[in-house]
Amino acid sequence: MQFTVALDGPAAAGKGTIARAIAKKFKFAHLDTGMLYRAVGLKTLEQGHGIIDPKRAAIVAGKLADHDVQRYDLRSAMASRAASKVAVLPEVRAALMDYQRNFARREGGAVLDGRDIGTVICPDAEIKLFVTATDAVRARRRFEELLSGGASTTLDAVLKDLQIRDARDSQREAAPMVQADDAVLLDTTDLSIDAAVEQAVTLIKQKMG
Ligand code: C5P
Repeated sequence: MQFTVALDGPAAAGKGTIARAIAKKFKFAHLDTGMLYRAVGLKTLEQGHGIIDPKRAAIVAGKLADHDVQRYDLRSAMASRAASKVAVLPEVRAALMDYQRNFARREGGAVLDGRDIGTVICPDAEIKLFVTATDAVRARRRFEELLSGGASTTLDAVLKDLQIRDARDSQREAAPMVQADDAVLLDTTDLSIDAAVEQAVTLIKQKMG
């Protein structure tokens, strides 16, 4: 059985948590596509001694290995920024496309979360969700996540970082972050993650018949 769930939306809206819960519930494979961009961003930054060179980024994306995507530091603020900078490059996006599409069509079902899954990577996904929440709520969630991971930062710095990243992600020419016409909107501002998961599960069950 092939069944793809596409989950898109801005940073810290709850996509990852919802994706993991869906994967567990339906025994689907899960791909956090942001990790691919984070891995390309960090490696490019390191090879360029702090500078992101577009040509280098495309080469890194074309040769991305499992160990690059399994690095412990991919969740850092530096990796987030580097990811959104390499994500504007069409060559980088193209190099990561086949891997994501193959993952999506694997037997047994798959859930992918990112920014362009429902629009570009899997336009034929069986279920598309666009998960969002206000900036303030997302910043608070990310701030708490970073603090619990031992990082020292401020709520204001996290909010600014998110807003800069969202603007870059939604205004870029290549595969901008946008809700697909046929995606269901899940606003998690006042919705607990459990309630959001519940809604997603109901939709998937309906679609599966
Ligand atoms: O989801 P996450 O915050 O880990 O993504 C990091 C960055 O990677 C995003 O800000 C975005 O620039 C990029 N990204 C993307 N397309 C995806 C997933 C992530 O452009 N499908």
